[in-house]
Amino acid sequence: MVYVRRIILSVTAGVAITLLSSWGLAVCGRFTDGELVATYSERNTMVPGALVPEGWDPRSWHYWTGVGIRRDLVSEREWMGSSLGMMMDGRPQRTITHIRCGWPMPAMAWYDYWSEAPKPGTPWLERSWWMGWDVGFKPPAFAAGATRWDVTPRLPIRPWWPGFGVNAMVYAVLAFLSGTAAHSWRRRRRRLRGLCEACGYALVGLPKCPECGRTRPGSPAA
Ligand SMILES: [Zn+2]
Repeated sequence: MVYVRRIILSVTAGVAITLLSSWGLAVCGRFTDGELVATYSERNTMVPGALVPEGWDPRSWHYWTGVGIRRDLVSEREWMGSSLGMMMDGRPQRTITHIRCGWPMPAMAWYDYWSEAPKPGTPWLERSWWMGWDVGFKPPAFAAGATRWDVTPRLPIRPWWPGFGVNAMVYAVLAFLSGTAAHSWRRRRRRLRGLCEACGYALVGLPKCPECGRTRPGSPAA
């Protein structure tokens, strides 16, 4: 069935576009806005649960946003002045920085900083899954001297599933619609030129295509 094949192709294209557009944003995305939301423990409940590792008791949440890219810093330390401060009490004081990229939704994620990150020397896939794929390149923003909030340039290989699903669906629908439009445009063009709609063979008045066997529309079935 031609529709099944086209749907499979569209979904594959949707997944590929989601991944590649996210990587483009991981390299070129810029932060343009941001806010320090939670500073004191009474406001902890404002930190989205998906950003807080199990068992953590965050005191700070700072986010930076831009088109197609977002950075969330969640820490058990308090925000002091313009940065995180060490505290005198005995809490673990762990910190994690989530970076998510993708458009229209964040679709891929990596941790730019993580107190409990897999150490260098852990298997490549395990470390890259959390920390991103360290391809060792400098994105344009870095080459030009702009620090982009000191984010280490890496390519994420871990999907942020809700956004990945939405983006893949959006791009799959777009791929399907443009595929359908291109298909009907090609058939129409062939019909107007007297060619077989299915394979493009010149029909020259034949009721049925000798190449693929398709009956010409408007002709009595042979
Ligand atoms: Zn034909």
